[in-house]
Amino acid sequence: MNEHQISTKHKKPSGFENTKIYGIGCSVESARLRRVIRLVLKQIRRRAPEDFKRIRSRVNEIAPLSDDSAAVGRFEGSGGDFETQGIVRISESDISSIATLAHEFGHACTRQEEYHRRMMDYDDKQLISELCATFYAYKWGFGRLVRRHPGIFEYPPGSTFEMGPSGDVRRYRVTRGFRIHEM
Ligand SMILES: [Zn+2]
Repeated sequence: MNEHQISTKHKKPSGFENTKIYGIGCSVESARLRRVIRLVLKQIRRRAPEDFKRIRSRVNEIAPLSDDSAAVGRFEGSGGDFETQGIVRISESDISSIATLAHEFGHACTRQEEYHRRMMDYDDKQLISELCATFYAYKWGFGRLVRRHPGIFEYPPGSTFEMGPSGDVRRYRVTRGFRIHEM
C-alpha cells in the first residue's frame, strides 16, 4: 500500500504526516508511540542488523490496533507462511508498548527453520509461535521489559508448566534458548 492510499483511507488531523519510520510505513498518529516505535527499531538495528533487514522486508505497515480489541498488539501476516508481508498493529493505549512491539516484531522476524525446530520439542503451534517471538524480544535486549508484563508472554526462560490428558500429565521446562524440554 502506498502512502497516498493510506492518507486517503484514514482521515488524519491536520499536521499529521504518514511518514515512514526506518523505511516502514506507519499510520500510528500518537507522537509518543511513534517515538517508541523508532526507539525499538533502532535498538533492533543496532543489536541485530540481519533481523532488522528481515523485519523491514516483512512488515509493510505499523498501524493502530482498535482499542476494543482485547490484545495490545498483533502481527497480521497475510499468508501464515514465513515470507509474506504483514502489518504490525499496536494499541495506542498500551502502557507496555516497548515490550509489546518487540514481541510483535519478533513474530515478523521468526524464520521457518527455528519454528519447526521448536515444534519438534513440543507440538503446539500457538505456544511455539509465541516462544519464537519472545526469543527475539530477549535477543534484542527487551527481556527485562517483557518479563515485567507477563500478559505478553507467560513462559519466561526457566519457567515450568504441566500439560497433557489426565493420567498422562507431563512436566516441561522452558530453556534459556526458548526451547521446551520435558522434565
Ligand atoms: Zn504473540
